[in-house]
Amino acid sequence: MRKPQKQEADCIFCKIIRGELQCSKIYEDKEFLAFLDIHPINPGHTLIAPKIHCQNLFDFPRAEETDLMEFIKKVADAVVKATKADGFNLGLNNGKAAGQVVMHAHFHIIPRYSNDGLHHWPKKDCTKEELAEMQKKITGFL
Ligand code: AMP
Ligand code: ZN
Repeated sequence: MRKPQKQEADCIFCKIIRGELQCSKIYEDKEFLAFLDIHPINPGHTLIAPKIHCQNLFDFPRAEETDLMEFIKKVADAVVKATKADGFNLGLNNGKAAGQVVMHAHFHIIPRYSNDGLHHWPKKDCTKEELAEMQKKITGFL
């Protein structure tokens, strides 16, 4: 077996994927592992991580991108049925500023209920001019 690089050797999710740390496994295939978050926002909160170490969405393995959405949908469907949720949030914290704590890219499936009292992010007002300026800035990088 290939010796893990330092980054992978120290990575908590790589340790879970290698079977060195326990997890509550939900499902896996050759590319991804789904397991329960140990500090769930709601019960059934599930994490999906690629088995290859990558830090964030931008270095996510290209070949696996096409399979990811199918994997997420399959697991999310089971999570929603099992938890009798009204819906779910699918999230990825990309970078420290966005709340990423474990630097191995992963998606969150968070079961949600109409009355779960969890707040959505506050939204800002903005003018048509501000939208147009932002549109120009972003499209300038594409
Ligand atoms: P993030 O903030 O997007 O990096 O999310 C990391 C998530 O991993 C948090 O929700 C943690 O509760 C969860 N977590 C950390 N360690 C473990 C672990 N050993 N098993 C399962 N979930 C974990
Ligand atoms: Zn890792």
